Amino acid sequence: MANYHISSDVLPTLAEFSLPDKLGFGEVKIPIMYRADYADGVWQPAELTPYGNIAIDPAAKVLHYAQEVFEGLKAYKVGAGRANFFRPLENLKRMNMSSARMCMIEIPEDIYMDGIGLMTAYSEPFIPNGSGKSLYLRPFLIGTRSNLGMGVSDTFTFMVIASPSAIYHAGHMKIQIEREACRAARGGTGAAKTGGNYAASLQSAQNVQRRGYDQSLWLDPIEMKYIEELSGMNFFILQNGELHTPKLNGSFLAGITRDSIISLARHKGITVVERDIAIQEVLTGIQSGAVSEVFACGTAAIVSPVSIIADADGTNYAVNKVDELAATLRQSLLAIQEQREVDPFSWTQEVAEQYSPAYIK
Ligand SMILES: *Cc1c(COP(=O)(O)O)cnc(C)c1O
Repeated sequence: MANYHISSDVLPTLAEFSLPDKLGFGEVKIPIMYRADYADGVWQPAELTPYGNIAIDPAAKVLHYAQEVFEGLKAYKVGAGRANFFRPLENLKRMNMSSARMCMIEIPEDIYMDGIGLMTAYSEPFIPNGSGKSLYLRPFLIGTRSNLGMGVSDTFTFMVIASPSAIYHAGHMKIQIEREACRAARGGTGAAKTGGNYAASLQSAQNVQRRGYDQSLWLDPIEMKYIEELSGMNFFILQNGELHTPKLNGSFLAGITRDSIISLARHKGITVVERDIAIQEVLTGIQSGAVSEVFACGTAAIVSPVSIIADADGTNYAVNKVDELAATLRQSLLAIQEQREVDPFSWTQEVAEQYSPAYIK
């Protein structure tokens, strides 16, 4: 535990809050936030305060040079017990890798755990407990040094905000291959969870949505031949009874859901292959039946089936089976996340009691 202060406004603010009937994903925000600043070479005492605007210098690095990284993880309270996280230290590990790539400060484990722990413990009465619902946590780090010269910030703000959410229903996704634009270059920042990658993907997303599809499918930036991922989800195919997913190559994100699905599928006796997957092979495989199922995965939606892959010219390739293995994997993973079934991987972690305010303890 690091040094933190809890503002006297926090409990009165929470006392006035109630969960709306309709949650959606990321729409409703818990009215408190956690903040820790790094300045003068040290982490300053952190604060839990009411949610509100933050003051930022107009010349801050984040606003001009996109020095920013973020994470997304969920706390569940479906079983009878306390709220629990799913693999929270994996998010910290990735956040610090992203942070190093963007020349930002390393976030110490105690500051991170205080942030997600306090936010979750104080939000406990508002964590929806229906299956599929959770508290979505969004830790993020920004560079705040206020000079316009190029260079690295030496002051940073780390924050955690939270949103009681329903599962993100992507539905049966129709995705379109992006043949022109690239989301990230090899050697670029594609493997870092940083806002710029999203900014770079928005135009393509807008284009495919105008054509009636849900998301872009990104190809490798060198040959434009191999599948990388969707803009915020990793990609899997079921090919001749084996699960195949693009091998990590540094230009797309190493999803924690991706990693969990790989372990879970192997645990179920399914062969999983990480390799370079050519888009043409998938299209041909859908036609021949060798590729029977396609799905994507990420924290928000967990596992989302793909029903159609469209080429850039509008040719649709309808996937043979939709949401069969995907549904099985989604249900198994969710059962572990919600502590409804034994967790053979020790992935879930209870929120430490020390963070709970007295009225909840
Ligand atoms: C966050 C993210 C994912 C999914 O990662 P999870 O750890 O599974 O949530 C996939 N792709 C991109 C670009 C992302 O930002």
